[in-house]
Amino acid sequence: MKRVFHYYILIAAVIYMMAGALAIFMVSGWISDHYFEIMGESTLNLAKVAANGLTLTDEQLESLEGITFDKLLQNANNQELSYLFKTIQLSQDVKYAYVIRRLDSDKVKYRVTNTDSEFYEMPAGTILDWIWLLDVIVNEKEQKEAESDPLYYSDKNRYTHVDMDTAVLYDEMKSGYFINHDEWGDQISGMVPIYTKEGTYVGLLGVDVYSDGFYDYKNKVIFVLFLLLVIPTVTLFIIFLSFHLHYRKEIKKIVYKDDATGLYTRAYYENYVIQQVKKLRRKEDSLTVIMIDIDDFKLYNDFYGHLKGDEVIVQVGTTFQREVQLAGGCPGRYGGEEFVAIIPNLSIEKGDMLCDSIRKKIENLNIIHENRQHYNIVTVSIGIYTDELLEESLEIRTLIDHADKALYMAKRDGKNCFKRAKRC
Ligand code: GH3
Ligand code: MG
Ligand code: MG
Repeated sequence: MKRVFHYYILIAAVIYMMAGALAIFMVSGWISDHYFEIMGESTLNLAKVAANGLTLTDEQLESLEGITFDKLLQNANNQELSYLFKTIQLSQDVKYAYVIRRLDSDKVKYRVTNTDSEFYEMPAGTILDWIWLLDVIVNEKEQKEAESDPLYYSDKNRYTHVDMDTAVLYDEMKSGYFINHDEWGDQISGMVPIYTKEGTYVGLLGVDVYSDGFYDYKNKVIFVLFLLLVIPTVTLFIIFLSFHLHYRKEIKKIVYKDDATGLYTRAYYENYVIQQVKKLRRKEDSLTVIMIDIDDFKLYNDFYGHLKGDEVIVQVGTTFQREVQLAGGCPGRYGGEEFVAIIPNLSIEKGDMLCDSIRKKIENLNIIHENRQHYNIVTVSIGIYTDELLEESLEIRTLIDHADKALYMAKRDGKNCFKRAKRC
């Protein structure tokens, strides 16, 4: 029963934890999706505002493609874009604003070299056919870092390659947003197509927004959810366990202890003897079983009534218990007015002496039993059996059966005596 209960608790806890983990996983997914949707849309809106504020002509487009990065920084269109972001009240932490455009093949200036192939994550020789037509750092911290890096504004840095998503958006002249997790952190890029005054397609105006803080926020939410999962699980487990332990103790008390005599019951004995046999067999010891039964007790009940009979059972049981315990044994109430004891390592002589002592002590209680023919005092008959525990498959029932047979012999022999069963 104990095992099964623990398994149920364990299975319940595992199911609860798994369901909780799944819930956390789903909630974390929803938070991410929801957050990126909101952030994506607002980044896109920012890009749209910037695109509306920017004016380019075909002529300016032509010239922008030809100038170096250094020149671009002084370029009026680039400054216009930079100024635009200074005037917009930004609620988001914008990193970069730019216009990206694909170059015609005759305008390609740079290729990936062996030394920078790792940086571009492209094999050496790949043509860098995309240009940052306009390029503005919006964030002050980012600006300072760029200024302290002598290579930041090197001309080649204006040329690049783009991922598939950007290329598709560019080709389809559509707006959209992406979430990037790269070595520069987590950011959201919103992009919109832009055109010159004359209607020539320029490319995509993009805005990159930091989203690092989001993971902090998400981790905190997950941590709280995790606590909400773990605290009730542990609390419930402790409550269940303490209930279980409490009731197991109570049930044991009811099942294993006889109310009237305070002796162990037959149910307890079955378990206890199994364990004793196992333990003693390992040490190559012997086990003695004693069974006693009150003589002519039915007649006692008939004459004095059951209540008086109960009192006798208590008196006999208490005497039996004391004697057995003195001999280092474990006494129990086996049935109605039958008692049992098992005593480890009791020699044949000592066993016989114990039986005689029990018999005498009960006789000496001097409980009058007038309804008997020959002897008007309550007495008991005793059966004793000692086993060396040599048989591997020895069962408790066998031990008790032997003692029971000996008890039957004692009854047949005139009662108020003990008989020893021989090993067969
Ligand atoms: P024997 O000498 O052969 O043992 O005769 P007996 O009358 O004692 O026969 P047996 O042991 O078979 O009878 C047991 C009787 O004990 C029957 C029942 O009335 C009585 N008894 C069993 N349990 C209780 C109990 O808890 N209280 C009382 N008062 N009587 C009980
Ligand atoms: Mg009986
Ligand atoms: Mg009896």
